[in-house]
Amino acid sequence: MFDLNNLLRNNIKNIVAYSSARDEFSGKEGIFLDANENPFDKSHERLNRYPDPYQRELKNKMALTKKVKADQIFLGNGSDEAIDLVIRAFCNPGIDNIIIMPPTYGMYEVSAKINDVKVKKVNLTQDFQINTNALMEAVDAHTKIIFICSPNNPTGNCLDTFTIKKIIEKFRGIVVLDEAYIDFAENKSLLNELNNHPNLVILRTFSKAWGLAGIRLGVAYASRSIIEVFNKIKPPYNINSLTLEKAIASVEKKKEDKIKEVEKILNEKERLLKQLSSIGFVQHIHKSDANFFLVKVNDAKELYQSLIRKGIITRNRSNVELCENCLRITVGTKDENNLLIKTLKELNI
Ligand SMILES: *Cc1c(COP(=O)(O)O)cnc(C)c1O
Repeated sequence: MFDLNNLLRNNIKNIVAYSSARDEFSGKEGIFLDANENPFDKSHERLNRYPDPYQRELKNKMALTKKVKADQIFLGNGSDEAIDLVIRAFCNPGIDNIIIMPPTYGMYEVSAKINDVKVKKVNLTQDFQINTNALMEAVDAHTKIIFICSPNNPTGNCLDTFTIKKIIEKFRGIVVLDEAYIDFAENKSLLNELNNHPNLVILRTFSKAWGLAGIRLGVAYASRSIIEVFNKIKPPYNINSLTLEKAIASVEKKKEDKIKEVEKILNEKERLLKQLSSIGFVQHIHKSDANFFLVKVNDAKELYQSLIRKGIITRNRSNVELCENCLRITVGTKDENNLLIKTLKELNI
């Protein structure tokens, strides 16, 4: 059986959260003499005041559009904050470990290392799917978290849904499913499964399909008990007022824009893939369910440098497991993509 209390670090279980001024009184009306703020609102946007530590307005709006409750939502300073918090909540430094499946997003390992938490690596198979047997064999008594990224970065593909569900059911620890790119995929999100799995944490972000990487806003969906833990250990005012304002406006009005943009990006991706496949030095384009794709070329390092000389920046992933001679290319605007194709065709590598 899954036992949250047994899984949490003792110090985290016993901690009493810092109680901020806005914790102790959360009403909106009144004369606020409780938080040592400057009373003069020069901005006329209440920027002299601390923001809501629990971002209730935004979470309530998000809960309306998703089938989750507001208290199943955590908001962080990017997904990166949620990744750090989940590791800190469950993994005892120097004792516990997490499992990641390279090639994958780099922050899981970096966050674990910052927290002095051991990282076990179980590579994806050659076709970038989960090696279930190897994964289950790697689990030991100190394995607290398995990170699954789908669609995966940098490979771009979705991992098999049936396999993901099996892992969530079998593993007694926490499964973090990073769905940063799910808006671009045909596969459905597992958000609907949240209530069936007390060990599931799903990560989303405003940085990709929502087009708001600059405001730094990441989302974690999980059981109420897990979200309570995150709330207890996060910095009190981790989401600032400007970010909240942009996100609220975006959730209210921009959903249609998001869907249209995703469509445009996917159309552009198809066009790019077609054009790229006719280029001589392109060996293989990996299947992509995201807004980027991984392409294997004859000489990735050389191509990367040549593109930079032409002012086009891609990501060289050649040094990553299973990504030898691969560049990761993000889909741009039509003009940007045209320039990329033209440049590639002119290059003589
Ligand atoms: C881009 C990305 C994120 C988003 O990170 P933020 O901190 O929210 O910008 C999360 N996971 C993966 C796999 C990503 O590629």
